[in-house]
Amino acid sequence: MAQALEITDLKKTYDTGVSALKGVSLEVAEGDFFALLGPNGAGKSTLIGAICSLVRPTAGSIRIFGHDLARDRETALGLLGVVPQEINFNQFEKPFDIVANQAGFYGLPRPLARERAERYLKQLSLWDKAFVASRTLSGGMKRRLMIARAMVHEPKLLILDEPTAGVDIEIRRSMWQFVEQINRDGTTVILTTHYLEEAEQLCRNIAIIDKGEIVRKSDMKSLLASLDRETFVLDLVEACDALPNVEGVTLRRIDALTLEAEVPKGTELNLVFRALDSAGIRLRSLRNKANRLEELFLALVDRKGHAA
Ligand code: ADP
Repeated sequence: MAQALEITDLKKTYDTGVSALKGVSLEVAEGDFFALLGPNGAGKSTLIGAICSLVRPTAGSIRIFGHDLARDRETALGLLGVVPQEINFNQFEKPFDIVANQAGFYGLPRPLARERAERYLKQLSLWDKAFVASRTLSGGMKRRLMIARAMVHEPKLLILDEPTAGVDIEIRRSMWQFVEQINRDGTTVILTTHYLEEAEQLCRNIAIIDKGEIVRKSDMKSLLASLDRETFVLDLVEACDALPNVEGVTLRRIDALTLEAEVPKGTELNLVFRALDSAGIRLRSLRNKANRLEELFLALVDRKGHAA
């Protein structure tokens, strides 16, 4: 399948000497709902800025549906819609004008611009506010207005940068319904967030960025599966032959006197001990092997969805 986004060895060092991106490579397939997860300062905004052509990379390349951003900027950007973190429209303008005027930047004829503005304001439940000054809108409405604005040229790739920070749960839900619908209709969606829970519910694939590097790329299912297991290191009194079978537990031999047991979270370890004992395997000691991924996640988020 075509790649909606292809980033190759992207680097960005700011004038201050901070290396915000240290060689990021990433591919997002057409039609995907993709999460970019990382703690504050990880480089998410720099990466999004580079994709929107607001940040000039120090090295590397970005292709949007095969169009190189440096060489074919206008076509590449025409396929992209971005909902930025900060409210960045003129709050004295009316929502209808904000959306319709944005269409003008992409060269849409005025009647089509007006038709699209109406369509997307309606879809985002903002039509009854279309002709009031946008500064009177609530925070959630302003976010939805930015989504309508980003959709007006019907981009094939929509990037939402921390769209739900500070947005209450009801509004989040209606925002996600809209975004899930446009994804079903074929728009590729990339979401940056530091809420694992949000990414977990919505996204099919995920990349985790930390300190300017991609530390993990995975589909959401196997990522969550790996988070639900923990590993123990078992030191043996003497070398053993065959390892017993324990349901749900993966026993691995590390060396003659060391085994690892990978168990679903919350497993009674007695189960493992008993099975080893019946097989004549005697344990000297046991310790929990910290799961690096899990440590990373604990640093990023807690599973209830609050920022760490
Ligand atoms: P995130 O969006 O994940 O919080 P950022 O991309 O904003 O991360 O920041 C990554 C690093 O780059 C941070 O150390 C940040 O301080 C630095 N940084 C971001 N923007 C600038 C800038 N305009 N000038 C200098 N340093 C910056």
